[in-house]
Amino acid sequence: MAPSEDIERFESTGKGRGLRALRGFKVGELLFSCQAYTYVLTVNERGNHCDSCFARKEGLSKCGKCKQAFYCNVDCQKGDWPMHKLECSSMCAYGQNWNPSETVRLTARVLAKQKTQTERTPSERFLSVKEFESHLDKLDNEKKELIQNDIAALHHYYSKNLQYADNSALEVIFAQVNCNGFTIEDEELSHLGSAIFPDVALMNHSCCPNVIVTYKGTVAEVRAVQEIDPGDEVFTSYIDLLYPTEDRNDRLKDSYFFTCDCKECATNQKDGAKLEIRKMNDPPSPQAIRDMVKYARNVVEEFRRAKFLTDLPPSELLEICELSMEKMGDVFEESNVYMLHMMYQAMGVCLYMQDWDGALKHGQKIIKPYSKHYPAYSLNVASMWLKLGRLYMGLEKRTAGTKALKKAIAIMEIAHGPDHHYIAEIKKELEH
Ligand SMILES: [Zn+2]
Ligand SMILES: [Zn+2]
Ligand SMILES: [Zn+2]
Repeated sequence: MAPSEDIERFESTGKGRGLRALRGFKVGELLFSCQAYTYVLTVNERGNHCDSCFARKEGLSKCGKCKQAFYCNVDCQKGDWPMHKLECSSMCAYGQNWNPSETVRLTARVLAKQKTQTERTPSERFLSVKEFESHLDKLDNEKKELIQNDIAALHHYYSKNLQYADNSALEVIFAQVNCNGFTIEDEELSHLGSAIFPDVALMNHSCCPNVIVTYKGTVAEVRAVQEIDPGDEVFTSYIDLLYPTEDRNDRLKDSYFFTCDCKECATNQKDGAKLEIRKMNDPPSPQAIRDMVKYARNVVEEFRRAKFLTDLPPSELLEICELSMEKMGDVFEESNVYMLHMMYQAMGVCLYMQDWDGALKHGQKIIKPYSKHYPAYSLNVASMWLKLGRLYMGLEKRTAGTKALKKAIAIMEIAHGPDHHYIAEIKKELEH
């Protein structure tokens, strides 16, 4: 763990508390790391990753009771028991009907942890879980209702093993988890789980962040992606930076209750390219452009709902992507972020269907504009190079594959650090 003389908590003008560097940091340098206060492996990755240390490997051993948690060895199993016991017998009892959301699962673990852990943990050097912002007063009725549903699910699935605080205290904890929780992703940005990293949650947001957060198992690592001078505030990004200023701020307002005033938001420098309009002899009218942006935002939302809330077959998801791209293509360039959004979704569906040529075709179109729209070191760009590289390699296109994998490594050496096991794995793929 980095000595705490390198960074400190401070009052950031207009932003409340924040994190500040006390010395200079070079690009790629580690500022600090933070073990998860608590975490949970996502249901879909059970059996692929150890529930305790998140290691990805074959031949993990099952929990003998529920047969739904998987571990490297007895040590991992023992280490996880204080958390797994919240779910083990409940999963046996409910069987197929056991389906609390990941937020509920994570919050149950926060409650259990708070019961047993009364002293400040090493994950809370700068900010403790108790101090988390809840923004409870800013929640609208819809959000409050979602929290009440979560509380009901908590009572339903976890009551045997947890004693609860009263409803208003639970409301605060759910609100805190909602705006301070992290999702853990793998090197291709696939979702692995959710976690609480208190010290990481202290950092404020910027759309031109000077650090990136990556994960090594259940440890978060924070590295500089811009030169940081002594006294500089440390900024991470809370959101996907692909989108134009207005969309980013809608997202920030909705999830984190503030409007960003970073350089990117003040100047809107990249918005023109992000909303690139087709060059035509008879260019679309301003009204036609506005209408198409409105359509694009709706279709993004429509697709999200279709993907997560319905069981539409992949072929129909793909059709939404294709039809919307065809329509948007009348007005937008292919480099337009709404086109890219649907291309990315289409690529995801192709990967899911193991249509490697289809996935590659989309990925090849995405990578160049991605590199332009995102900051210099971006996990979105790295993971796109990685997916492309792996697709090329799988399709025996070694020259293109090698080039793409090396592009991924170049970004990851800064963002993940050169010693990360993901990089060692990609280097092995290069040798084959
Ligand atoms: Zn393990
Ligand atoms: Zn079990
Ligand atoms: Zn911003």
